[in-house]
Amino acid sequence: MIANEFEARRQTVVNGLAERKLDALLVSFSPNLRYLSGFTGSNGSLLVTPQKCILFTDPRYQIQAAQETSCQVRITKGPLTAVVLAAIQRLRLKRIGYEPARMTCDFYESLKSRLPMRAALESTAGWIEELRMVKSADEAARIRRSVDTNSQAFEQTVTHVREGMKEQDLAAELEYRMRRLGAEKPSFETIVAGGVRSALPHAQPTAAPLKSGELVVVDMGTVQDGYCSDMTRMLFLGRPGNRVKRTYRAVLEAQLAAIDAVRPGVTTVSVDRAARDVLKGYGLDGAFVHSTGHGLGLEIHEPPRIGQRDKRRLEAGMAITIEPGVYLEDFGGIRIEDTVLVKEKGCEVLTQTSKELRVIE
Ligand code: ZN
Ligand code: ZN
Repeated sequence: MIANEFEARRQTVVNGLAERKLDALLVSFSPNLRYLSGFTGSNGSLLVTPQKCILFTDPRYQIQAAQETSCQVRITKGPLTAVVLAAIQRLRLKRIGYEPARMTCDFYESLKSRLPMRAALESTAGWIEELRMVKSADEAARIRRSVDTNSQAFEQTVTHVREGMKEQDLAAELEYRMRRLGAEKPSFETIVAGGVRSALPHAQPTAAPLKSGELVVVDMGTVQDGYCSDMTRMLFLGRPGNRVKRTYRAVLEAQLAAIDAVRPGVTTVSVDRAARDVLKGYGLDGAFVHSTGHGLGLEIHEPPRIGQRDKRRLEAGMAITIEPGVYLEDFGGIRIEDTVLVKEKGCEVLTQTSKELRVIE
């Protein structure tokens, strides 16, 4: 990514500091830190002020930080709080924004107890997450690549699925393919669950063999160039009966209706309702136990949420998932999920994988 994009983001933050009557923003959550600086290490704090931007990290990241960011880099062997405090003092910062949901109590306490006189920490909850919701062209391209890799990994693997294969082995194969295709890692622990276990929306793969006559849910995503993808597809081993076909059709209709509702200006709750209303028509709305979707980008789950209580309006450039599902304890679960990009007019479904139920005979 061009350094300019990070600098432009930091400039947006600097402009926002004045509005919020802050002298600086202290960023400690790594996806936010990466978004503003380009730094991908696991330990760091970023202090953004109108004059300068300083990244504090430890000696393990000395070389990496210098390569990744155009911010000033301060390396310290000791706790980051000590050097952050020293900078606060030196720059005479009085009102410092911080991320309450993203900072450990430990870090907060040690910072707060040693702040210079008249200096104070002010919550800026959700600020950077808000900026991250609308993706740049470069970010959208990364998400698209991640989605394509994910779909390819699925296609290459699904042809080898047979009765008797363990859930764990299928999950391992999917993750191996992702990496071979250029992904850095899975964006979450791959879900493969057969039979009634498919009714657990976040099932972990087990040693159970896939059996004939069973639904299998596969929910997978990759991280590529730092950006996440997310997709759910359903397999069926053997010949699906009427109940499976009917339930599958209901979920697919709900998913298409929600996608149809996605465009700039609509509220996320109305997208959620589009899916829920279809399922209601099938008497299945009670079995739809989660939100219709979520934003994704540097994180697999980030704002906006597409749920029943979420009234945010969609904007062009947001990347979201659309993933209604129904979960019936005695029957199993069916979920269909795509990654979708909100466009000036409507949206683009980035996931190219067929949404037909994959019947494996
Ligand atoms: Zn998913
Ligand atoms: Zn998802």
